[in-house]
Order: sequence, then C-alpha cells, then structure tokens
Amino acid sequence: MAQQEDHFKKVISHAKEYGYIFGSSEIYDGLSAVYDYGQNGAELKKNIRDYWWKSMVQMHENIVGIDASIFMHPTTWKASGHVDAFNDPLIDNKDSKKRYRADVLIEDYAEKLNQKALKEIAKAKKRFGDKFDEQEFVTTNPRVLRYRKEQETVLQRMARSLEAEDLADVKALIEELGIADPDTGSKNWTDVRQFNLMFGTKLGASAETATDLYLRPETAQGIFVNFLNVQKTGRMKIPFGIAQTGKAFRNEIVARQFIFRMREFEQMEMQFFVRPGDELKWYEHWKETRLKWHLSLGLGEENYRFHDHEKLAHYANAAADIEFDFPFGFKELEGIHSRTDFDLKAHEEFSGKKLQFFDPELNENYVPYVVETSIGLDRMFLAVFSKSLEEEELENGSTRTVLKLPAILAPVKAAILPLVKKDGLPEVAQKIIDDLKFDFNVAYDEKDAVGRRYRRQDAAGTPFCITVDHDTLEDESVTIRDRDTMEQKRVKISELATILHEKIDFKHWAK
Ligand code: ATP
Repeated sequence: MAQQEDHFKKVISHAKEYGYIFGSSEIYDGLSAVYDYGQNGAELKKNIRDYWWKSMVQMHENIVGIDASIFMHPTTWKASGHVDAFNDPLIDNKDSKKRYRADVLIEDYAEKLNQKALKEIAKAKKRFGDKFDEQEFVTTNPRVLRYRKEQETVLQRMARSLEAEDLADVKALIEELGIADPDTGSKNWTDVRQFNLMFGTKLGASAETATDLYLRPETAQGIFVNFLNVQKTGRMKIPFGIAQTGKAFRNEIVARQFIFRMREFEQMEMQFFVRPGDELKWYEHWKETRLKWHLSLGLGEENYRFHDHEKLAHYANAAADIEFDFPFGFKELEGIHSRTDFDLKAHEEFSGKKLQFFDPELNENYVPYVVETSIGLDRMFLAVFSKSLEEEELENGSTRTVLKLPAILAPVKAAILPLVKKDGLPEVAQKIIDDLKFDFNVAYDEKDAVGRRYRRQDAAGTPFCITVDHDTLEDESVTIRDRDTMEQKRVKISELATILHEKIDFKHWAK
C-alpha cells in the first residue's frame, strides 16, 4: 500500500516537473479538482484522443464522428433523466465538517471485508502450499464465508435503499456498521441528502429573459439529439455508430485522486445503434473490441479486468466497466453500456419528434437500441502515464527514471542531439529536424553532456534520441538510441524517416 501511494506521489510530481499536468490557476493556489495540461500533456492527450478517434471512426466504415456543443436545450436533461436522477447521496461529518459520498463510505467498508477474506485465502495458500484447493476453501471456510456473506448483505441493502430513495436507511446502515470519518474517526453524521451533479449556468443578458442551462454532464446526449440528422445526411444503415469526444462537467462531491475524478473532464464516447433484440450481441462485441484496443497499447494484460454491474442504471439492460490497475488499485476506466431505447424514446416523448429508423430489410420503423462505449480521456491519460513511469535499476547499479509511453502516444517522438555545440554539428541536427518535422513532433536539445540529455529525454518519455557526431559529417550517419532498451544503432540519415514510421505509425499499433 505504502509503495502504491509512493508511486502515485511520484506520478503527480513527475507530471508537473516534465510539463504534463499543472494545477489550475496555480498562482492563486489552484482550484480543487481542476487541472491544466502543459506542453507535453497537451500532446499526449491529443495523441490518445487521435488513437481513439482513428480506431473508432477511421477504422469502422459504419461509424462517423460529430462535435456537438457543450450547451444544449435544457429539456435535453429532463428527457435524459439527469435533472431528476443524476444525484449522488452525500453525508457530512458534523465534527470534521468533511463531506463524503454515503455510497462510497459503505462500499469502502464492504471492500475491507473483501480484503479480510482475501487475507484468509492468502494465509491458507501459504499453509497448504501445492495441495491448496482454493475453490474448496472459499466455499467451506467459515471465516471466508462470513466475510463474504456480510459483504453481500451490506451491498444489497445499500442498493435496495438507494433504489427506493430511502436515504434514512442509508444513514441507518452507516450507523449500524459503525462507519467513522476516515480522516478523524468521528461518527457524528448528518442525514444523507441527494446532491445533483450538474453545473447550472445562465444564457442571456438580462435577469428576466435568461434561460437556465446546464453544462453537459456527458457527451452522449449530443449524439442522441443528432441521431436523425446524421442517419439521414450520412445515409447510415443500422447497425451504425456515432462517435464524439469533448468536455463534460460534473460537480463531483469528492474530487480527489488527481485527474481520476475531475469536475471538468473530457469523454470519448460512441453510441452504436442496433436492431431491437440484437443489443446483447453487440454489447459483447464492443466489450471485446474495446478491451483489444486497450491491450494494443502494450501496457500489460494483467492491468485490465471487467467488472459487470449488479445494479444497473435506469436506462441499461447490461453494463460492464473495464477496470484498470491505477496507482490506487483497480478502478473504472471505461464503461460499456447496453442503453436499450431509453434515450431515443425519451427524446421522442419530450420533443414530440420521431427518432426512428426505417429498416428496409424488415420493412418497418423502429426506435433503435443503443450500445455505448464511454471512456474518460483524462482517466486514460492517468492509466497510460502512471503505468509508463518506472524507476529502473541498471546493470551498473545506478537507476534511471524512464517514462515508457507507447511510442504512438509520446508527445515528442525523437530528440535530435548534436554531440557538441560546434563544428557544424548543430546545423546538421537542424537539417534533420527540418526534414522530419513534417511527419513527426521532434525536439532539439544541445545543453549538457549527451548522457544527461539521454536521461532527460528518458524521463520526458521521448522514445528515440538521434545523435549527430563528427563522423556524421563524413558518413551521413547518426546514432539512434531506443529509450526502453537503451540500444544504440548507427543508421543513415536518409533512413531515419522510414525507421520512425515503422515504430510510430498507426498501422503498426492498431490491429
Ligand atoms: P464513476 O463511477 O467513477 O463516478 P461513472 O460510472 O459515473 O464513473 P460514466 O458516467 O459511466 O462514469 O462516465 C463514463 C466515463 O467517463 C468513465 O468511465 C470515466 O472514465 C469518465 N469519467 C466519469 N466521471 C469522471 C470524472 N469526474 N473525472 C474524470 N473522468 C470521469
């Protein structure tokens, strides 16, 4: 645990030191849970967004992308259910004045029971060695059974009370379980209240004529309200998808864990419209396709797992998260939801306009069903960044800090380094840059000894260093060094573009 926390701290300070992420308006002491992306962060974020867009839109003939506004007609949010149901149950501690999500306090309690069960299993495994039969143990050991049963009872009761909007029972549960403020240990709680997560704002100049608006809490609704526009103008046939990336805003009660939970963040969503009845087949398809996309980046299969939802949102008939092993444990990175015809039907009802598709094969009109894939760009950034950051022990006993970003996502693809600042070497380096910069984001670095420059580029995440030395003037060759293996190769300047294309181009990554 301490090791995890330590790594997380390093991630945050490294992100700042290397121009990836700064606290927002830092000179005014920042704004809680709001962040700015720096010169390298903006590039990494753009590259992740492009990788998603190309994989989803460019690689699928039946998926197109749009860019809808953040402001939408206020009725949108009535239809979508966000005005009435986009709430988190919150509770305050009267002594510490700290605010918590009541469901998260209970879930954390349940997770502790799970950890206790896992400890028993680990102990038994050690004791019995090869002879250990885990299946048998977890189904017969009284302690494990008790922990698991209690965990299940707690979560089921919470789900029931939340569903019935019985907030008094949520508080009663917290008190019965003896849950204390994690910071201070106080059990002096207020009642549980619902808190709407949407940010309100006003459109218009004068107070009388101004309209109340919301900043969109998800990008999906911009797709639903444009469903027919896209279908008709794009002559799209079901099944087809509409993709979109863009900002979303949620007034999160507890926004912590760096860019994992922000109040202003970016989503990458795709809504796939299918025939009613086909949705579960497509749901499985998209679960598999999205996991493959994640695995294509090579961060390690062991870092992903599916988590199927037991408690489904009001609009869904199946839902799963792809969870990632963040520095603070496995947490949701992406959601895949079978949203039925809930959204389109609701928009039909509230707008009085038909949102249907005429299926020529069936010769009938219907409201399509929707399977959604929804991923947070900032969360994806954190996943990639935190897993790439390593302290590596070298053979000579020293260590180096290296940010092993997948080359396709790295902000700067290659640094061009003249060995010395004279003898015409900077000019050759500049010529190489002028040639490569049309295709790749490259950087120039001439300060300090070349070894230090290599270390600096390793830490910044640059996958290749290209060094110009005195021999270059004779043989038109340079040294190219690989960030991860630290291998150095002599290659012709004329081959550089081909080598970089091979390592970086989209077609070598997305399979
Ligand atoms: P959580 O349970 O973590 O609050 P959610 O289930 O509300 O997330 P969705 O509404 O399914 O999330 O949103 C889809 C995706 O958007 C999430 O998988 C996540 O990657 C991202 N996301 C949601 N809320 C935030 C946030 N506050 N900050 C950053 N990313 C977010």
